[in-house]
Amino acid sequence: MSKDIATPGRTKEILKKYDFLFKKSLGQNFLIDSNILRRITETAELDKETDVIEIGPGIGALTEHLARTSRRVLAFEIDQRLMAILPDTLAAYDNVDIVNEDILKVDVGAMIEANLAERTKPVKVVANLPYYVTTPIILQLLHEDLPVSSMTFMLQKEVADRISAKPSTKAYGSLSIAIQYYMETELSFIVPKTVFMPQPNVDSAIIHLKRREEPPAKVNDVDFFFDITRSAFAQRRKTLWNNLVNRFPELKPQKEEVEGKLAELGIDVKRRGETLSIPEFATLSNFLGGFMRN
Ligand code: SAM
Repeated sequence: MSKDIATPGRTKEILKKYDFLFKKSLGQNFLIDSNILRRITETAELDKETDVIEIGPGIGALTEHLARTSRRVLAFEIDQRLMAILPDTLAAYDNVDIVNEDILKVDVGAMIEANLAERTKPVKVVANLPYYVTTPIILQLLHEDLPVSSMTFMLQKEVADRISAKPSTKAYGSLSIAIQYYMETELSFIVPKTVFMPQPNVDSAIIHLKRREEPPAKVNDVDFFFDITRSAFAQRRKTLWNNLVNRFPELKPQKEEVEGKLAELGIDVKRRGETLSIPEFATLSNFLGGFMRN
C-alpha cells in the first residue's frame, strides 16, 4: 500500500511538484488527515462489492481510501489541472476512473451505466464537497432517479444542521424536508478546520444520508408538496396561512372553509410552517391540491 496522500508533508510535496495553486472559487480545501478519511469510509459502510461515486477528488486524498475499501470508484473533477496529477498520485490503484466534468452538468445516470455496469449492488456517493455548491449538488443527485443507496458528505456544519434538522428548530426548513423526504439523515460527526489545507472559514461535519424504502408520508403530487413546503418557509415569522395566501392569493376569499377543513385534519393555519412535520405537510398539500383543483 502506498504512502497516504492525506498528510501535510505528502500534500505539500505533490502541490510543489506540480506548481499547484488552490482555486478558492472551486472550493478547494484538501484533506490532510488520514484518521478523518478512515472515519468517512467507515461511515459510508463500504465493502469490496460496492461501487462509489466521488465528487471532486482534488489530488486524491479521499479517492485512495475509497479505492482501498470499495470495488470501483468513479470520480468527477471539474478542474482540468488535476487531470495531470491524479494519474500520478493514484497510480497504485487500478479501480479508479476520473472524469473531467462538472458534476452539475454531467448525466450521472448515464455515466453509472457506462462505467459501473458490472455492479452487483446500488452505488454509494462519498465526497468532501466543494462548499460553494453543496446544496445544488445534493439536490441534483436526489432528484435524478439514480441507483444510489446512500450518500456520505463532508460539508459545512451549518448545512449539515439544516439537512438533519427536526421540526420547531431554527435550522428546520425546506432543505430539511427536500432531503428527509427521500433520505434518512444522520449528522455523524463534527470535523475541526485543522484537517484541511487550506483551512476553510467555517466548521465542517460529516453527514450520512440513506435512501428510504418509502417516503415518510403519502404525497399525491410531489412537486406541489415541495412548492407548499417552500411557501410555508418563505417568511419564517409569518403564520402558515399568511405564507400560503402569499403564494396562492386565490385561497384568500375561502379562508373560513380552508381553515375549518384543515383544523379537522389536525392542522391549525395559525401555526408557523416550521412546526409542521413531513406527514403534516403531506396532509396539507394533499388537501390543498384537491381543494384548489375543484
Ligand atoms: N476530495 C479532495 C479532498 O478531500 O482532499 C478535494 C475536496 S475539495 C473540498 C472539492 C473538490 O471539488 C476540488 O477538487 C474542486 O476542484 C472540485 N469541484 C469543485 N466544483 C466541482 C464541480 N462542480 N464538479 C466536480 N468537481 C468540482
